[in-house]
Amino acid sequence: MKITNLDTVVVDFYRTNLIFVRLTTDEGLTGIAEATLEGQEQAVLGAVAVLAEAVRGKDPTRITQTIYEVNRDAYWRGGPVSMTALSALEMAMWDVSARALGVPVHRMLGGQVRDRVRAYANGWFSGATTPADFAEAAIQTVAQGFRGLKWDPFEAADLTLEPRDLRRMLEPVAAVREAVGDDIELFIEGHGRFDVPTAIRVARGIEQFQPVFFEEPCPPDSIDALIEVRSKSPVPIAAGERWMGRNTFIPALARKAVDYVQPDATHAGGLLEMSFISTLAAAHYVPFAPHNPSGPLSTAATLQARRNPAEFPIPGNHGDRRALAKWNLHRAPPTDCGGRHPDPPGRGTGHRTGLRRDCRTPLHAASHADLQ
Ligand SMILES: [Mg+2]
Repeated sequence: MKITNLDTVVVDFYRTNLIFVRLTTDEGLTGIAEATLEGQEQAVLGAVAVLAEAVRGKDPTRITQTIYEVNRDAYWRGGPVSMTALSALEMAMWDVSARALGVPVHRMLGGQVRDRVRAYANGWFSGATTPADFAEAAIQTVAQGFRGLKWDPFEAADLTLEPRDLRRMLEPVAAVREAVGDDIELFIEGHGRFDVPTAIRVARGIEQFQPVFFEEPCPPDSIDALIEVRSKSPVPIAAGERWMGRNTFIPALARKAVDYVQPDATHAGGLLEMSFISTLAAAHYVPFAPHNPSGPLSTAATLQARRNPAEFPIPGNHGDRRALAKWNLHRAPPTDCGGRHPDPPGRGTGHRTGLRRDCRTPLHAASHADLQ
């Protein structure tokens, strides 16, 4: 089997564009994956086009060799654009390889460890502005079956916060905790906003709400900043969604920068790299909490790599149901109404898409064939 092409489809996903990558072969089998990278769509499309030239004619089942070679041969390697494209190539190769054998990808990665995976909700607060709005949205989300809620309450905060602003921003958090009780898990997202002293102040401010973790308190490019925050934070610290490749995770784990590590398969290097990072995390007894704010193919792929025995909830997609209904992405998102991800069915990454032709955004300028 040889790779004949690697092309892309861009889909409007209400808050961003999803980028799907399709790997086609001379035997008619296709593999699909996702290369969504908010705000960098044009750059990712270019990076995938470069990879397409590099892998044409290669055997798609020789995943390790191919990824090693295309990475080695790229003098300028790494970074979010290149790694997102590379991750999509890797996951599409897993998909087509597993389909060729008629098995789910997880069967090739050590097999599944559990039958269901908990999912926490994100995007559940859409449209909420007041503490009462957040409380109501939280109650409705919990009523759907979710047992965890994540959100960023910090508005447009940049590096620092006035004490009165922090107090105001924590009012919705208090309202949500009050509304849902102590048994619902809250995850507070920082989106890398804060400098070190502000992050420590915020961590101390949210301690009263007993969050599972405070995610990305500082920008992602300083492990020393995270170590400093974690050393003084009364709540657990999570990070890793903007770290790419094992070489960024090794020092973070070795230096105890995080309580939870959050690689994103769509950017960290794909499924094998995420499995390696999962093993590294397990060796440090650091909980592995895969990140994924992207679309259904990223969710499906992430579920295939769940080989860490330590169960941890992974994200239900932002607005999945709305976007999937809009664009007729059938086979439903792999989040059931109980707030858990059921066993991924079928072959490959267990997800097929039936994209309508009119779902493409103007960014798309390639094939008009449907992904199947
Ligand atoms: Mg995040």
